[in-house]
Amino acid sequence: MTAPARLTQPSRAAVVESALGRVTAGSRRAAVGLVGAVVVAAAVAFGVLVLPHWPHMPTHGAMLWGFGVPVDYQECGFHTGQDWFAAEGTPVFAIADGVVMYVGPLWSSAPGTGRGDHAVVMEHEGYTTTYSHNRIALVSAGEPVERGQVIAEVGNEGYSRRPHLHLEKVEARFSGDWTRPFDGCDVYVDPGMLWSPF
Ligand SMILES: [Zn+2]
Repeated sequence: MTAPARLTQPSRAAVVESALGRVTAGSRRAAVGLVGAVVVAAAVAFGVLVLPHWPHMPTHGAMLWGFGVPVDYQECGFHTGQDWFAAEGTPVFAIADGVVMYVGPLWSSAPGTGRGDHAVVMEHEGYTTTYSHNRIALVSAGEPVERGQVIAEVGNEGYSRRPHLHLEKVEARFSGDWTRPFDGCDVYVDPGMLWSPF
């Protein structure tokens, strides 16, 4: 009647072993996701705190997914721009003087696809740039923009798992059709890392 309950409990070793068995199967995936999130967070913090005003940066973040990487989620089969990871709401800067040609959905406006509903397309001398996944755009079509001007805020719209800016440099003019803004795949070029200071 007064027998202590702990006598009927499994040994600590058995409990630990059983828990480990259950955890191991699902934990590997979670660990990979956690490491990824930590890497992104560290890179973003580095970009925001250590290199906030480096001249080539289109936003206060970190470029972690470069141009030309093979991907299966884009029609051309390669990543057509650079992904700059930054906290939601971080300012997005124009990388050169230009004129805003278009603001709105790009490629698709369905939830979870395309570039979100606040993409910005800007024309410069001899090329075009696009800024996608923004949570909001701060410029309008027809507006002249100076290099370094804040044109949008980083968001997580469209085909995006974490807040980031997808920046493209395109050696073609905007077609005028947001569902097919540029023709062909060879018009996309590496935005590079050496823009002029602003
Ligand atoms: Zn991208």
